[in-house]
Amino acid sequence: MNTIITRFPPSPTGYLHVGGARTALFNWLYARHMKGKFILRIEDTDVERSTQESVDAIFEALEWLGIDWDEGPYFQTKRFDIYKTYIQKLLDSGHAYYCTCSREKIEEMRKKAMAVGGKPKYDGTCRDKGLSQSDNAVIRFKAPLTGATVIEDIIKGNIVFQNSELDDFIIQRSNGTPTYNLAVVIDDITMGINTIIRGDDHVNNTPKQILLFKALGSPLPVFGHVPMVLGSDRSRLSKRHGAMSVTAYRDMGYLPDAFINFLVRLGWSYGDQEFFTREELIEKFTLEHIGRSAGVFNQEKLLALNADHIKVTPPTKLAEYLIPFLKQKGYETNDVSYLQKVVKTLHTRSKTLQEMAEGAVFYLQDKIDYEEKAAQKFLIPSALGTLNLLIDELMQLDHFTEKGLENIFLKIMEITQLKLGKIAQPVRVALTGKTVSPGIFEIIEVLGKEPTVRRLKDAVRFISAKS
Ligand code: GLU
Repeated sequence: MNTIITRFPPSPTGYLHVGGARTALFNWLYARHMKGKFILRIEDTDVERSTQESVDAIFEALEWLGIDWDEGPYFQTKRFDIYKTYIQKLLDSGHAYYCTCSREKIEEMRKKAMAVGGKPKYDGTCRDKGLSQSDNAVIRFKAPLTGATVIEDIIKGNIVFQNSELDDFIIQRSNGTPTYNLAVVIDDITMGINTIIRGDDHVNNTPKQILLFKALGSPLPVFGHVPMVLGSDRSRLSKRHGAMSVTAYRDMGYLPDAFINFLVRLGWSYGDQEFFTREELIEKFTLEHIGRSAGVFNQEKLLALNADHIKVTPPTKLAEYLIPFLKQKGYETNDVSYLQKVVKTLHTRSKTLQEMAEGAVFYLQDKIDYEEKAAQKFLIPSALGTLNLLIDELMQLDHFTEKGLENIFLKIMEITQLKLGKIAQPVRVALTGKTVSPGIFEIIEVLGKEPTVRRLKDAVRFISAKS
């Protein structure tokens, strides 16, 4: 079988949004599943709206998602010579012609067609004139007047367009630049693309593109048009449903693997399985399981998937992911081996990296900020006995193991005749500043002897100063 070659051709007119990222992902996963090739192409022919900033944002988002490409990035603006050669081929083979109809004349045609209830389209005035190049001439494709053009869509089934409804569309503007449909087809031909998965907002372009493929004698790629992503109210996904840019989700603390898991489920399924690792997706992704109905963006589902992915991500990796989030909170550290231990106490209780960073802050503070209510309730004179006992015992313990710590607490319980809960709360506030935290044995193990003792002594001082 031929190598599968897919592509992702974003127009750099903004950030990479959820819908675009899903298209990229489907094409990438299919190429990886089939051990084929995935090509990145930047469709920047709309010079007015294309920006370098958007190009960079797209690269950044793809990189974060771990969607890598085997060829490219190609830029359409660097390929005008190639398009010219193919336009000439179409002229030479009689599939295209020069047209000098003025704007006003075309407007008139449109109005006329609409007045009799027809589709506004070019009436073919210059079709058989045999005009040659001139200053204001555009080049039009000579579309067939009869018959039908069929998209054999692998997702939607056959979609039939009557050729009589199609226009002699422009393939080269009067300023010599190629139009969108022309550039796409020439790129797809010259890059050997044989599988095109894209949003169904492109369905109306496809018959024009099919006609161009045929006129150039090129085999048709496989087409599949995926339904748009909808917001929670089932209207088309837009900004009012939440963030649209992919990198905004990175900044909110989602893991790339969780995000691609979420994206893939907006239009693809594998039985009723919800959780997929990246490797599993590559292994299981085929086109047959792309759905016909629109995926609905559900933020809670994304959050739940993220929590599940956090649980299975190796702590070293989580530690690395956490670094920028901590930095944002003012804690600069690259100590992955320490953070790894920190993460192990937090990864089953954090839904996002933001939340995890919040939970990790006390591990990195030199001086603990006590939550006001926590301090009021637990850092009180009656806690001094427990805290001092614990300081003494910990100072004598060389290796902090769970067993060793447990024994210390048992001993203190016996001496003070207090239950573990009573002893634990002031210790927790002393060590973390809060009333809710990971288990205190875990915390003490991570902090180590000196920082633990220092925090307990700080708490003793805090209580003494108050009373
Ligand atoms: N550049 C188009 C877009 O960003 C994609 C065209 C295509 O997939 O053929 O929507």
